[in-house]
Amino acid sequence: MYLHAMESGRDFLPVFADTGNEHEATLDYVRDLPRLTGGPAIRWVKADFSGDFERKRRFVEEQWPKDGVPDDRVRAALEALHPTRVPFLDLCMMKGRFPSTRARFCSEELKYHPIFYQVQEPLLEDGQIVCSWQGVRADESASRAKMRRWEHVGGGLWNWRPIFRWTVEDVFAIHRRHGIEPNPLYKQGMGRVGCMPCIHARKSEIKEIAHRFSDHIARIELWEALVGDCSKRFGIGSFFAVGKTPGHDKSKPSPGIWDVVEWANTDRGGRQFRLFDDINTDPGCLSIYGLCE
Ligand code: SF4
Repeated sequence: MYLHAMESGRDFLPVFADTGNEHEATLDYVRDLPRLTGGPAIRWVKADFSGDFERKRRFVEEQWPKDGVPDDRVRAALEALHPTRVPFLDLCMMKGRFPSTRARFCSEELKYHPIFYQVQEPLLEDGQIVCSWQGVRADESASRAKMRRWEHVGGGLWNWRPIFRWTVEDVFAIHRRHGIEPNPLYKQGMGRVGCMPCIHARKSEIKEIAHRFSDHIARIELWEALVGDCSKRFGIGSFFAVGKTPGHDKSKPSPGIWDVVEWANTDRGGRQFRLFDDINTDPGCLSIYGLCE
C-alpha cells in the first residue's frame, strides 16, 4: 500500500497500528521502509487501555461475588488486573478472553480505533476530507471479497481499497519495481504478517512459528496464564478458540497454545505425528508464495 501510494504521486500520511503482538521482523520492516524507499515517515499508533483497569478492578470486586464467581477467581483477577501497556494483552485481560473468529474485537480495538481516534478524527475535526487507503485484496478471503472498493463511512471519511483486485503476484511485483524485499516472514512459511500469531493462523503456520519462533509461543503461554486469571470461568484463557484442535472435549478447559502446537505437528486428521518432519528433511522453499529464503 505504501509503495502504491508513492507511485500515485500524491501526498499521503502512512499509519501503522502496533498491536503489541507483531513479530520484531515486521516492526523492523515498517521502521525501515521510509529509509529504503525515500518515502514519507510512518506515523506509529497504539491503543492504550491502561486507564480502563481501575474501573474493571472495581467491577470485579463488587459484581463478580454477586454473580457467584468463586472467591479464588475474584482474588486471581484482582491480582492480575494491572496494565502491561502491551495493547493486545491489556485488551484481552480487560475482556477476560482472547478474540476469536466470532468475537474478532482485536482488529477493531487495536487497529481501527487507534487509527481513527489518533489520526483521522483530528483531521476531520480540522475540517479535512480523509480518504483512508486500505491494503485489502479480494482474494485474501471470502469475507474480504464481499467488501466494497469505495465506502463512505460518514462525516468526511472515505475508505478506498485500491489494491482490491490485485493478485499476490501484483503485490510482489511492486516490491521488485522498487527494489524492496518483501517482509522476510513471507519467506518463512507465513501466509500473513499481522500478529504473531494471528488468531486465524493456519495449521502449517502455527507449526512454522513453533519451529522458528518458539519464544513467541512461550510469550503466548504467559499471556494465556494472565488472561486466564482475568476470566470469570476457569479454563477459558486460551489464545486459539476451542474448535481449533479437532475432537477437543468441550467440557474440558480449552486447549492451550502448546496443545495447539502439538496438533499443528500432526498429519491431516490431527491424530498422527508426521513420520518425517518436513522442516528438517525438505530443503525446499517453505514460502506459501514460492519466495525462496
Ligand atoms: S492480525 Fe489477526 S490477531 Fe492481529 S488484530 Fe488482525 S485479526 Fe486480530
